[in-house]
Amino acid sequence: MSTSITLTQASSIYAGHFLFTLVRYGLFAGVAYFIFWRWRKDRWQSRRVQQKFPEDKHLHTEVKYSLLTCLIFAAVGVGIFAARQAGYTRVYTNLADHGLGYLTFSMLALIVAHDTYFYWTHRFMHLPQVFKYVHRVHHLSHNPSPWAAFSFHPLEAIIEAGIVPLMVFIMPLHPLTLGLFMIYMMGMNVLGHLGYEPYPAGFLRSKFGRLHNTSTHHNMHHQYVKGNYGLYFNIWDRLMGTNHAKYVERFEAVTEGKQPQKQKAVQKAA
Ligand SMILES: [Zn+2]
Ligand SMILES: [Zn+2]
Repeated sequence: MSTSITLTQASSIYAGHFLFTLVRYGLFAGVAYFIFWRWRKDRWQSRRVQQKFPEDKHLHTEVKYSLLTCLIFAAVGVGIFAARQAGYTRVYTNLADHGLGYLTFSMLALIVAHDTYFYWTHRFMHLPQVFKYVHRVHHLSHNPSPWAAFSFHPLEAIIEAGIVPLMVFIMPLHPLTLGLFMIYMMGMNVLGHLGYEPYPAGFLRSKFGRLHNTSTHHNMHHQYVKGNYGLYFNIWDRLMGTNHAKYVERFEAVTEGKQPQKQKAVQKAA
């Protein structure tokens, strides 16, 4: 195995990663946007977390920054590939090396690790002196659409991508695990920015719902810019006491059709 990659190899790896990132972004955000924001708009209106809609210019900003993020994620992908070629990572390609049980375990471990990584890097990015340079772009969306899923400043995009390079040095990971993880992450990310709450009423009273985040949870983070920092699970926010005080109340209002009709949607100029 060669220890370094050629420029041609790097370009094709870059193109492949870029395409994979662009397609999963376009597909998840596009399908969600089409179903909820266009095709079934009226049917889902009562489930909107913020009843008003943002102006189109905000959606354009979300897409613009998301495309920039795709370019950055692809560059990180090339970096990981080069590190792997040089023998620095623990990525393995022979499934039989660790078996299917490990494959499943490594996928779950990656999700739990990412949830922790996300919560703490997110808290870090909310420090006032960091926020204005790194995280402000993501918060230009006070009333996000699915297109906001990758709407990051380039510095934030690098931080967000960081979980993968970190984990490939720590534990053996198969490319299949990494691919599935990225698809799962995309789906959950689009769900958080959906603008609608698809989970059933009473979800937060179930055992699973107590530990898992909802679309309302992340939408409120965008609306109030304070509280609700978690990604997949509602564990770190519970442990650190950072759930928004009105989270459960708001979720129940949205899912039980008790939203005030003239709720003030906040969407400042981008
Ligand atoms: Zn934030
Ligand atoms: Zn967000």
